[in-house]
Amino acid sequence: MTNNNSKLVIAIDGYSSCGKSTVAKDLAKLLNIIFIDSGAMYRCVTLYALKNQIISGGTINQNLLKDGLNKVNISFKFDASTKTNETYLNGKLVEDEIRSLEVSNHVSAISALGFVRKKMVDLQQEMGKTNSIVMDGRDIGTVVFPEADLKIFMTASPEIRAERRLKEYQQKNQKITFEEVLENVVSRDHLDETRDESPLKKADDAIVLDNGHLDKEQQLNFIVNELKNRKLI
Ligand code: C5P
Repeated sequence: MTNNNSKLVIAIDGYSSCGKSTVAKDLAKLLNIIFIDSGAMYRCVTLYALKNQIISGGTINQNLLKDGLNKVNISFKFDASTKTNETYLNGKLVEDEIRSLEVSNHVSAISALGFVRKKMVDLQQEMGKTNSIVMDGRDIGTVVFPEADLKIFMTASPEIRAERRLKEYQQKNQKITFEEVLENVVSRDHLDETRDESPLKKADDAIVLDNGHLDKEQQLNFIVNELKNRKLI
């Protein structure tokens, strides 16, 4: 659905649990282009660190992680039955595991490490080199693809975001309280915004999409209209 043969790069950044991946997925499907959830990549590194005792008692052994990073192989496969991109860590499907509260509670500390970010950003830029792509994350418009054709910055109140995340946990029968989810959302936002390496911030040329009271279709329409206005599709 792109209007010419040139590559289209769309960056979607924003706060935790804003529904960035949901709208990015819908957009990729509509435009028939690749979707990459960059948060899933940081979550894979975190899961690897937890499984290999690289994080213990809340402390990250950075030397072990530096060595271990070479053994972290992240890939995405499209599952035709669920019509979603599934995340694989070293050949194993980890889509559910990487969304656990344990991973969520450690991922922002892992993603604040410069050497982790360097490796992830290199991989992400490689994926966008030859493909039209929509990627969501925290630094896509600022660091990964500063020349992106369209940059969206998504936001909604922490309470609305925590409520949405809580529903996802409940659908998976995971016992967790609203307060626990809210605390994770707020503390991840704080860590993401205040870290030294590529902190979460809106790119100057990004458009804000506050989706607190918008449904999936309205969000998709908002972005599609932007693309049309810019004659990108
Ligand atoms: O998007 P999601 O909430 O799954 O991301 C998990 C975490 O990964 C974020 O809280 C953030 O710490 C980190 N992240 C990042 N840069 C990205 C994507 C995610 O630092 N581009």
